[in-house]
Amino acid sequence: MRPIFLLALSIMVFTSCNNSEKKKSDETVTTVEVEKPQSIKEHSDQDFVNITPIEHATMVLQWDNVVLYVDPVGGSKAFNGQPEPNIVLVTDIHGDHLNVETLKAVMKDSTILIAPQAVADKLPDPLREKTQVIKNGESTIHNNIAIEAMPMYNLREEAKKFHEKGRGNGYILEKEGNRLYISGDTEDISEMRNLSDIDIAIVCMNLPYTMPVNKAAKAVLDFKPHIVYPYHYRGQNGLSDVSKFKEMVNNQDESITVKQLDWYPDKE
Ligand code: ZN
Repeated sequence: MRPIFLLALSIMVFTSCNNSEKKKSDETVTTVEVEKPQSIKEHSDQDFVNITPIEHATMVLQWDNVVLYVDPVGGSKAFNGQPEPNIVLVTDIHGDHLNVETLKAVMKDSTILIAPQAVADKLPDPLREKTQVIKNGESTIHNNIAIEAMPMYNLREEAKKFHEKGRGNGYILEKEGNRLYISGDTEDISEMRNLSDIDIAIVCMNLPYTMPVNKAAKAVLDFKPHIVYPYHYRGQNGLSDVSKFKEMVNNQDESITVKQLDWYPDKE
């Protein structure tokens, strides 16, 4: 029995040495990672927020345990099966962004509505009481998500009538250093091109109301979000060529991930 015991003991020692060797090499790897400059933000292709397109400009965001509806239109049936919203964001007054009946249906007692003044002015009193108005450049915090209102407006002379500067809000949402940008209806304004450190951008592209895909691509190439989702791309002549948008972005910069979601489930 004794020789077998010794053999067993020596295997244990050998294994133990091996483990400590392995542990040592793991520690070395960890040290290298820690020494990377703090200013370089680690990105992953894993989105920190779950984006469910409803249609066109309307979406449901789930960010940890917080549910946000953006521009809820389409009636309560459009939100069947969706969790109740903690926060509703409305960008502008047009029918593809603001629908009072849908707001009445989806807003719960504890839901807060964030909107520009022009939207609040169109709400009946019970909804207006649940509304926090923020204008371009202003911020608020709800459910640990910082919400900043961004300008959104047209630049082309013939399109200025659609979205005048200051009326509507795009939004930047931020939590734990992760930043999500929702463009609202806008052209490639300098405020968008100058954005920095955007992880996920949701960007409109349709004519004549917002901008063509080449302008959207150029803007995105300027502010370099890690991930970009085209949305709001149905215009007067049907759907914009979002695959062209992806091609234009990735021909110039392969590090920007363009993700396509189904924003028009009822087409055809
Ligand atoms: Zn719109």
